[in-house]
Amino acid sequence: MQNRVDLLVVGAGPAGSTAARYAAEQGADVLLIDKKTEIGVPVCCGELLPSRDLMASAFPNAPGLDELFPIEPALVRRRIRRIIATSPRGRGYEFPMDGCTVDRDAFDRHLADAAVCRGAVLQAGTKFLRLDGRRVTTSQGVYEADVVIAADGPLSPVCRAAGMARHLKLAPAVTCQAAGEFGDAVRIFFGNGVAPGGYAWIIPKGGRANVGLGIQSPGTPLRPLLDAFLASNGLAADSMQAGFVPVSGPACETVRGHVLAVGDAAGHVVASNGGGITIAMVCGRMAGLAAARHLLRGDPLAAYEREWRTAMGRELESAARAKRWMDLSLRSDFLLEQAMSMLGAGGLERLMVYNGMGRPRPPARA
Ligand SMILES: Cc1cc2nc3c(=O)[nH]c(=O)nc-3n(C[C@H](O)[C@H](O)[C@H](O)COP(=O)(O)OP(=O)(O)OC[C@H]3O[C@@H](n4cnc5c(N)ncnc54)[C@H](O)[C@@H]3O)c2cc1C
Repeated sequence: MQNRVDLLVVGAGPAGSTAARYAAEQGADVLLIDKKTEIGVPVCCGELLPSRDLMASAFPNAPGLDELFPIEPALVRRRIRRIIATSPRGRGYEFPMDGCTVDRDAFDRHLADAAVCRGAVLQAGTKFLRLDGRRVTTSQGVYEADVVIAADGPLSPVCRAAGMARHLKLAPAVTCQAAGEFGDAVRIFFGNGVAPGGYAWIIPKGGRANVGLGIQSPGTPLRPLLDAFLASNGLAADSMQAGFVPVSGPACETVRGHVLAVGDAAGHVVASNGGGITIAMVCGRMAGLAAARHLLRGDPLAAYEREWRTAMGRELESAARAKRWMDLSLRSDFLLEQAMSMLGAGGLERLMVYNGMGRPRPPARA
């Protein structure tokens, strides 16, 4: 079977569903595929999102925030107000963080439904296999696509098939759910005994918490670390999911021929905290609009790369620099203890919440 589509979006996560929604809304003929048979399942995420206002402060040039956010109240599991970071020796540093938690499976389904409502065709259980020019081979047939959006996550088989230069550093991470009430503070824990080179988290969801950790030593088994972390906090969980977080900043190339990369596939993640959901949505919107402009008006696809770099590039690069700086002290608990004490709560907030760039001043009153 060979079908023709204007735009084939590979991956129905936040990046792909948002790209599909905006391209379809503009009138493009869009097919959105995902290898998962059930969109959003299994969940491999901390499920924490910054608020619209926090996004606007941390990414002042990000377009489309008022269209993409706030998250629909029905999807919110818990409002989050602050982060408490604990040093290897148990010293706590508390700073504000305005956001919420969601059930990531319901959230991803909601974004995919929004794309379908705007006219995109969603085909789950369809795996991307090969790219030969405009010919895309999937597990469910062959498609001829004028534009392909690679929204297929950190390993991105599409980017690899397109020959895109990426060089992304991927940090292994693992997550599970634990029952209980955990208030409105995200708790994060540093120390090489807990999460070597990274941190562990307890993120409240109302009635339960998302518990997990990310590390930077490939080859270290994640399950024993997570079991030990759960036990030391008196928590129990049944199943766990492991994945990767791109932590080296955005990819050096995100447009090659008729292929655009977005979201984790493009390294669109805040490297200093590992958050990428809202960044994937903002960049997904830009990718979808750029693809539609190309298809309907002949505008060059290269505009997409210029647009996202202008809107988000400075902040994403700054977060990657902050992460590299953090890595120097994350190697040793002694250095980490000193660094956290030197930074204090305000410095940690700048590094982790504001991309290492400082908290923007509130606008002056007239
Ligand atoms: C353990 C962990 C915890 C995290 N916690 C947070 C958090 O709390 N907050 C936050 O903002 N970010 C978090 N992140 C990062 C966040 O999950 C990603 O940045 C975000 O999901 C990126 O969205 P995306 O659409 O680019 O990719 P994904 O959400 O990964 O979506 C990619 C989609 O592509 C599909 N796909 C892959 N290969 C193929 C193929 N060959 N054919 C068809 N489909 C394919 C996948 O099935 C998937 O549905 C976490 C990541 C991990 C691993």
